[in-house]
Amino acid sequence: MSPAVRVFLGLGANLGDRRATLRAAVLRLREVVTDLRVSSLYESKAWGVTDQPPFLNAVARGETALTPLALLDAIQEIEHDLGRVRKQHWGPRVIDIDILLYGTERIDQPRLVVPHPYMTQRSFVLRPLADLAAGLTLPDGSLVGELLTTVAQDDLRRIAGPQWADRTD
Ligand code: AMP
Repeated sequence: MSPAVRVFLGLGANLGDRRATLRAAVLRLREVVTDLRVSSLYESKAWGVTDQPPFLNAVARGETALTPLALLDAIQEIEHDLGRVRKQHWGPRVIDIDILLYGTERIDQPRLVVPHPYMTQRSFVLRPLADLAAGLTLPDGSLVGELLTTVAQDDLRRIAGPQWADRTD
């Protein structure tokens, strides 16, 4: 078995029971990512296509023995099982799971780009990522905590601590 690699995953949902879906996604992710920890839970205004309901967002961190593409397959299976339908780019979605970081690797393949291309511009990624790893350095040398100071956070609201993923209320 290959050695485990630390991964960071971005989670988002803006249709249906968003929190329940995110919880279900975390449960499923624990099958392929060990020692999984989640950030606080945030609500954010939609990006790109702004005429849609607000998102709930979080970031998860853990270790995986899967290769990057095997992890992407597992994530897409989870998204599919939770009711994700691929329609509009940046459109509403029951669940969205992105690979933000896979160890220190840079990947540029047709199916997978890591670090996730937009992660350094989005407060709904950087804020929860900083909850888990403010001192983390990205492959380009930038520091998560410093990047966070460069993005506007006024459209972002923290709505629950990291226990959101465990509780059923
Ligand atoms: P999205 O609509 O944001 O879920 O994008 C899904 C598409 O992005 C899929 O076809 C993936 O193959 C592709 N993709 C490229 N890079 C990544 C990444 N880092 N994490 C997840 N999906 C990715």
